[in-house]
Amino acid sequence: MVENQEKNIVNKVIIVTGGSRGIGAEIVKTLAKEGYTVILNYNKSEECAKNVKNELAQLGITVDIFKADVSKPDEAINLVQYALEKYKKIDVLINNAGISQSKLFTEITNEDWNYMINNNLNSVFYCTREAVKNMIHNKQGLIINISSIWGITGASLEVHYSTAKAGIIGFTKALAKELGPSNIRVNAIAPGIINTNMNKEYSVDEINKIKEEIPLERIGNVDSIAKCIKWIIEDDYTTGEVISINGGWHM
Ligand code: NAP
Repeated sequence: MVENQEKNIVNKVIIVTGGSRGIGAEIVKTLAKEGYTVILNYNKSEECAKNVKNELAQLGITVDIFKADVSKPDEAINLVQYALEKYKKIDVLINNAGISQSKLFTEITNEDWNYMINNNLNSVFYCTREAVKNMIHNKQGLIINISSIWGITGASLEVHYSTAKAGIIGFTKALAKELGPSNIRVNAIAPGIINTNMNKEYSVDEINKIKEEIPLERIGNVDSIAKCIKWIIEDDYTTGEVISINGGWHM
């Protein structure tokens, strides 16, 4: 911590959407342990959010938790405003919140489609639009969006999920071009299969079959994503990139 203060990174204020569980929770823990000021956003899993906060508190580390359904524009704005009122700036926004659903294309209802796009793509737009106003004013900032391997390759039975995650990639590249002159970087991470609740519906047999297709012969862990996030924050010249972390499943 003292070392981090010397590096002056404690001053960076970071919002992590969907930080209550899975990949987001690991990102929160990794960055908070580095000494960054982290705001953990959650929606439904208040207990999980409190558990992350308490786990860090036992190490003497404080994180803020803030409930907001980022698929709703007003709540996304509330999240960003909370950070600004408390810390006066936002240095990094990590758009991690997301949901998944597996369905035959012809059975995807309008409600399924809209729910997917609202939670996985519109949420990124709502949070980013609000946060970058402050970043543009400060002439510095970083957005990291969590896409997916399926946003690159497309997944059968997940057309709506793949569409949202592909949208994030276009969003990332276009915004990186528009905001580069304001010294704001925009990058995405496209994970393969990572061991979280999102994949709990896969059977052991299905997971084993997937492993056979992956050159590293294993599915990923949340810390691989968190370590990459930490690196992107420390870097200063990478923008408009989509970083694949998938064990070589897709190259
Ligand atoms: P997870 O374990 O199911 O966690 C999802 C997180 O997103 C939870 O913290 C949840 O919060 C939050 N969330 C969902 N909708 C939200 C909303 N409207 N507002 C605020 N928070 C919301 O999933 P995960 O595997 O960690 O996934 C994290 C991200 O990685 C997602 O964008 C996912 O698409 C992406 N991804 C995951 C994998 C994988 O294999 N796991 C692969 C590629 C990409 P609450 O429970 O509090 O609502």
